[in-house]
Amino acid sequence: MALPYDRVYNFSAGPGTLPLDVLQQVQAELLNYRGTGVSIIEMSHRSPAFEKIIHEAEEDLRVLLNIPETHRVLFLQGGANLQFSMIPIAFLYKHQIAEYVVTGTWGEKAMQAAAIEGTAHAVYNGKPENYKRAPVISELDLNAMAQYVHFTSNETIQGIQYQADPKVVNHLICDMSSDILSRPVEIANYDLIYAGAQKNMGPAGMTLVIISERLIHRTPDGMHPMLDYRLLSEKKSLYNTPCTFSIYVSGLVYKKLLREGGLSTVQSKNAAKAEALYHEIDSSEGFYTGHALSDSRSQMNVTFTLPSEPLTTKFLMEAALAGMVELKGHRSVGGCRASIYNAFPLEGCLALATFMGKFAQDNR
Ligand code: PMP
Repeated sequence: MALPYDRVYNFSAGPGTLPLDVLQQVQAELLNYRGTGVSIIEMSHRSPAFEKIIHEAEEDLRVLLNIPETHRVLFLQGGANLQFSMIPIAFLYKHQIAEYVVTGTWGEKAMQAAAIEGTAHAVYNGKPENYKRAPVISELDLNAMAQYVHFTSNETIQGIQYQADPKVVNHLICDMSSDILSRPVEIANYDLIYAGAQKNMGPAGMTLVIISERLIHRTPDGMHPMLDYRLLSEKKSLYNTPCTFSIYVSGLVYKKLLREGGLSTVQSKNAAKAEALYHEIDSSEGFYTGHALSDSRSQMNVTFTLPSEPLTTKFLMEAALAGMVELKGHRSVGGCRASIYNAFPLEGCLALATFMGKFAQDNR
């Protein structure tokens, strides 16, 4: 199973696999970006060439995600972790309440950061059952006084994913770090969406924020500049030096996704990839156990356990020898996790499914 450049099937949860043709283009353009005589990583963020890059990245993303005029696009830094804090610093004050739907480790961290600012209430918390499902948000007992409702569309560690866009009356905020651009999204349902680049977009560094005008207008005066959504938006993500390389590569990925038919195409490819693995789990007669309940299964992170710790170690070792790496699950879930983001190829999922079938047969 020789892959080009002796690459392996990389199931990393992030930074994750990027499209090979994009990496090749980056390589080809790295020393002299399109006749400018300098590399993209040596170029001023105020130069015409970079202004074109960031402008096109936003335009392409708007088309891909069908982002309405009511929403602004920001390319920030600090990762999703900074958004965990920046959101409550801007929109949750002492004596106010925000509601958190906690379906995994990342939602829990987001809620903990919010609790430093005000009252962060877990309107659902799956922790006691070790996070196995995603409840329907509109059926939760939401507090009409809450400043916003926060949820995580895909919990990367547990492999729990919302299957559809929720719609609530309160400001809806979503951490889409690990499934952004994996399927179409109804942006109008959300007031703020954020995602680090390093899974479905590009190299780590850039943090995408899509924020509604109506929420931006609620940014209080007197904010620290780097925490001020209104200022960052007015400056078109160029208040400080942005993460130029990550924005450039993400922009190439957006163009590729558009060329290949947009997010509905991506969605069906992802469904086929995930199905290959879940089918193997379900037909293994209990050798593999899926972590998530079936109605909450992630198409990005497939989590499963084996009958014992030694068998898990053997599985990971033999998989690595067969050119499939980064399959170890997070310690809180144990077992294995196959992260199969957009750029991860179907062939890699089929190879893993075949390997799983044979491994189960040989080790029952
Ligand atoms: N949220 C989710 C769903 C994630 O998967 C991650 C990263 N694995 C984070 C937040 C944290 O992102 P960052 O490291 O970019 O701060």
